[in-house]
Amino acid sequence: VARYFATTQYADRLSRARQQCAELALDAIVIGPGPDLRYLTGYHATVLERLTALVVPAVGDLTLVVPNMEVGTVYASPINELDIELATWDELDDPYSLVRDCLPHVERIAVDDLMWAVKALRLREAMPDVTQLTAGPVMSELRMRKSPAEIAELVRAGRAVDRVHERVADLLTPGRTEREVAKDIAELLTEEHESADFVIVAAGPNSAVPHHEPSEAIIAVGDIVVVDIGGTTDVGYCSDSTRTYSIGKPDADFANDYQALHDAQQLARAAVAVGVTCGEVDAAARDSLSAAGLGKYFSHRTGHGIGLETHEEPYILAGNDRQLEEGMAFSIEPGFYRPGRAGARLEDIVVCTSAETVVCNNRPRELAIVD
Ligand code: ZN
Ligand code: ZN
Ligand code: ZN
Repeated sequence: VARYFATTQYADRLSRARQQCAELALDAIVIGPGPDLRYLTGYHATVLERLTALVVPAVGDLTLVVPNMEVGTVYASPINELDIELATWDELDDPYSLVRDCLPHVERIAVDDLMWAVKALRLREAMPDVTQLTAGPVMSELRMRKSPAEIAELVRAGRAVDRVHERVADLLTPGRTEREVAKDIAELLTEEHESADFVIVAAGPNSAVPHHEPSEAIIAVGDIVVVDIGGTTDVGYCSDSTRTYSIGKPDADFANDYQALHDAQQLARAAVAVGVTCGEVDAAARDSLSAAGLGKYFSHRTGHGIGLETHEEPYILAGNDRQLEEGMAFSIEPGFYRPGRAGARLEDIVVCTSAETVVCNNRPRELAIVD
């Protein structure tokens, strides 16, 4: 399996980034290791204290400022085939002056949102008269709408995490701790992905804590267990899916609540269409849960965008008037959490298209009863 997309895709992204700079009256963006750099060039650079930075001016040559000792990893990446000059530096050189030298006569630049403060501040010192902003508005405009190749990759990530959920029920044996189960799940995630990103196993009353950390709590018959897991593929795209399990038959009240959640999630998925706002998708889930008396227990947004990061734009949040567009990918993950008692969440990744919505996760959505 190729770890990169075709070089032409990166070239296209770079030229759109330059256009976007020009539109936002920026002279350049400066992008360090992380999802933005991987998006623009395919280069999956390690985040280190030494400065690596891609300098993308609105007009003029592209330059990668990079430590000499990292050049081998650059040559192994698509940067090799892109029109990007290398400005290498040795241990005693000042890389910030290299960035400055790439950008004479600039007034406004932006650095990627995840650049370490120590680096952003050093850059500011090197270019004291230049206005420095964050490049989030440039990059999220590009990254928010997924190309067909990216959608295929999100579908692949979805299948990978589905194969893990398929095996979760067998791990949820009464008497095991959340942490033991979480360790096994992390291993399965690593088998199916390049890396495991997170594992939530929340049993019994812990199921009512949306972002519970796996603990020494022992799984018992009668427990509800929320399992929310995700990993990253070798191309860099993230999976994220939640299923709720019941150890033995659930009580009737919980079964009713879960059915309401199931229906709310289905309604929210059905609401996804080009031109519908993020807030309207959130309302589809929220209104349905409220009608079932669970609105006050649905304490978080309905979803988040996903791609090279697990959480990115667009956010499926009440009041977000952003309209969905072709290629926007995000989670639909309503839940309810009765403090001290039990909770549940149901999460799938979907992609909005002008045709049918692509659903990346397809494990059964009923409460999974573990015998
Ligand atoms: Zn979450
Ligand atoms: Zn999520
Ligand atoms: Zn999740």
